[in-house]
Amino acid sequence: MQKIFASIVTIGDELLIGQTIDTNSAWMAQRLNDAGIWVQRRVAVGDEKQAIIRALEEEGAASQIVLITGGLGPTADDITKPVLCEYFGGQLVQNEQALENVNRLVSRNGLPVLQRNLDQALVPDTATVLQNARGTAPGMWFEKNDVIYVSMPGVPFEMKGLMTDEVIPRLQQRFSTPELLHHTLITTGMGESFVAERIQAFEAALPAHIKLAYLPSYGLLKLRLTSITPDKLHAAEEMDAAFDKLRSLLADITVTDRDIPMGVMLGNLLKDKGLSVSTAESCTGGRIASQITAVSGSSAYFKGSVVSYANEVKMNVLGVAADTLETFGAVSEQTVRQMAEGALRLLKTDCVMAVSGIMGPDGGSAEKPVGTVWIAVGGPGNIRTMRYHFRYDRERNTEMTCVAAMNELRKWLVS
Ligand code: AMP
Ligand code: MG
Repeated sequence: MQKIFASIVTIGDELLIGQTIDTNSAWMAQRLNDAGIWVQRRVAVGDEKQAIIRALEEEGAASQIVLITGGLGPTADDITKPVLCEYFGGQLVQNEQALENVNRLVSRNGLPVLQRNLDQALVPDTATVLQNARGTAPGMWFEKNDVIYVSMPGVPFEMKGLMTDEVIPRLQQRFSTPELLHHTLITTGMGESFVAERIQAFEAALPAHIKLAYLPSYGLLKLRLTSITPDKLHAAEEMDAAFDKLRSLLADITVTDRDIPMGVMLGNLLKDKGLSVSTAESCTGGRIASQITAVSGSSAYFKGSVVSYANEVKMNVLGVAADTLETFGAVSEQTVRQMAEGALRLLKTDCVMAVSGIMGPDGGSAEKPVGTVWIAVGGPGNIRTMRYHFRYDRERNTEMTCVAAMNELRKWLVS
């Protein structure tokens, strides 16, 4: 069985000038992977005819499947549809179901239906129309020289609906795909070179169809095993065995054995243990709380947060002693410990994370340089403190503080 290759083409000037981040490609690649389809190329082009045609030619030569998003809006800057019509031949004809959909969506909002809205129901007669229940621009499926091209709107919500309801099911029906499996282990506290040294023999012994990837970020290291094999029967078993081996080699530095955000990891742990949590956040401004509440169902364990950015809030709300702040400063072991104690008292949770640090670029000193962070985690009568020093910009230092705090609470919970 052969690998099925796909290319993703995203269209829009906004992608090229960095105004919009291309999230569509990442989402589509994940869905294609889940379906056993290997994305081998991704390309972004502007709303420009020659650029679009060149991308269609190049990707059509490289892949069996070319998925395209963007440029299907009702305004003159979006030109994907006429370009596709010209490229694949044929004429624009009205699609009744798409027209009904346009009328339904526009009149639902109490707005008059403009000609440019009606024109969205025009599709090349060389395309199979994929109805888009979430928007006015239908998806279009073309085939040329044994290559499938699918054009979808750029709006992520609409693209996702079309992918899930139409594109993936049709692709699965068309292709018999190999088994494509990913398993991810997340570790912390050891650099990738040292991890690589430790698992050298394991890595060397992996069969050719299982690949190991090292993905470091924010103080964590993701180790992803990927297997591509036609042998669906044994693929899962073989991957489980390889992953178990990896897990046992790295047990002491493992954060989680699934590819999940830290907020999910911590939430699972708290749920398992039936414990509640709160945060007292200075430098992260509520971001830890935000990452915890990004998880549906977090109300089962998260009670609340005090964002104590100013010293008077640290004192008046959390009960940090004026003395402490004066003697040791806001970024200190003593302050962060009292912040944690204050949050436990106030929010009555089983455990807490408190952070105070200097995120930069200003505010550092010789004694406490930018990136200095104090973290406190624990529960009533049992609080641990630790100091970190991050060396990056404000955004990254802040994110790393969140990750470190959640990881420290994890360690406290499992110890
Ligand atoms: P369009 O289909 O070109 O009219 O795109 C509509 C909107 O979808 C744009 O204004 C962007 O905000 C968004 N969008 C387009 N392409 C992408 C993409 N690749 N990733 C994320 N958002 C996108
Ligand atoms: Mg556009």
